[in-house]
Amino acid sequence: MPYPDLSSLSAKLFERGQEVMPGGNSRVGVMFQPYPLYAAFGKGCRVTDVEGVERIDFINNWSSLIHGHGNPQVLAAIAEQSQRLLAVGMPTEVEIELAELLTSRVPGVEQIRFSNSGSEGVLMALRAAKAFTGRPKIAKVEGAYHGNADAIEVSVAPSPKQWGAPEAPATVASTEGLTAGVLQDSIVLPFNDVEDTRRIIEAHAHELAAVVIDPVVSRMGFVQATPEYLRMVRDVTEQHGVLLVFDEVFSFRMGYRGAQGEVGITPDLTALGKIIGGGLPVGATGGRRDVMAVFDQTKLPLRVEHGGTYNANPMTMAAGLAAMQQMTPAAYDRLNALGDRARDGLRAALHDSGLVGAVHGCASMVALIFNDAPFSNYRELPLRRREAEMISTLHRYLLNHGVTIIPHGMMLLSTAMTEDDIDEMLTAMRGGMKVLAGAASE
Ligand SMILES: *Cc1c(COP(=O)(O)O)cnc(C)c1O
Repeated sequence: MPYPDLSSLSAKLFERGQEVMPGGNSRVGVMFQPYPLYAAFGKGCRVTDVEGVERIDFINNWSSLIHGHGNPQVLAAIAEQSQRLLAVGMPTEVEIELAELLTSRVPGVEQIRFSNSGSEGVLMALRAAKAFTGRPKIAKVEGAYHGNADAIEVSVAPSPKQWGAPEAPATVASTEGLTAGVLQDSIVLPFNDVEDTRRIIEAHAHELAAVVIDPVVSRMGFVQATPEYLRMVRDVTEQHGVLLVFDEVFSFRMGYRGAQGEVGITPDLTALGKIIGGGLPVGATGGRRDVMAVFDQTKLPLRVEHGGTYNANPMTMAAGLAAMQQMTPAAYDRLNALGDRARDGLRAALHDSGLVGAVHGCASMVALIFNDAPFSNYRELPLRRREAEMISTLHRYLLNHGVTIIPHGMMLLSTAMTEDDIDEMLTAMRGGMKVLAGAASE
């Protein structure tokens, strides 16, 4: 049954959902027009919707399913753990095991605390930084997304009318419901602009607790921080006693030692999430031992209270451990080679289609944009209405040809994929591009 079809089960579920939930469900990102497809089950790299249509899954729950669906080791760990304890008001050994694995791999993570979402991982990193430094403000990069904590829900996608001078980006609320105090305490930095960023950090250094950076910004077509930019931010934060926080909730995918291992810069704190939970809800805050000490509940008075009914619940810890144990250096190499195959193949497909476009990303992250203008920060991001329409047409074509991608053109790979699966995606892409170029119809 081709998408869209208003008599489909998904369309009916969407209608039913809207009666009881504003927008039909609980998550902004899963919506696309005219209705989102409802999932029934997944196996390996494929997901099947309620209509019984199977597609290769290049969403992988926005990156978190690095092994795709139904990874046998992860399922076995979950099954085994579920027989013993789902959750319990006591700590468990498996929490220590996942903490040992992560601290042994990630250079900037000497100690770690677990929570239930990447947003919480970021939130607790910011609070720890404020407690440790005794300073009130944080700085973030314009155009970057770091979850839904108040302080960081600013300037995620500001419009040109709001964003202010390039050398002094305005702090623009990304959602209603933020207070003036929150906006006052969040400083916005121009990504990859070494001189202006240095100047802004220096001007606010005395009141700045932390600078938060994602070395690969997913919201900006996986644009990467330049080595000079990261080096400057590391140096200037260190000079002024500002903590550098890497948000690797997404970019931890990059390699065995995380994004920081790849870029060779060690932050003071790191927020994690997504892949480290093996598919179950997870977040984490890790970092320098002296900074992490603010969470130490054996020392009174308690400096930062970090509670959470489901923090380090053994189901998530067991799934995360089983998932991360499989992510050996060889597994990263294989997965990242699939990423290269996808990017190279897409570039060739674009070229052959005659369409203007570019393919961005690294490791197992891929972004397709119908514009070939180079960009290194949010303001240069070449996203216009026509290009958004093209991606949307392609997204729909792919849904009808066995492939599901993030609606605005991003793809996340899983270890469940083979070269054949990548090639199947590329064949569908070539078909979609032909339609876009006007050389073929549906
Ligand atoms: C997904 C994401 C978050 C938020 O994580 P949730 O688990 O969705 O709360 C934060 N930062 C980045 C870079 C992310 O990609």
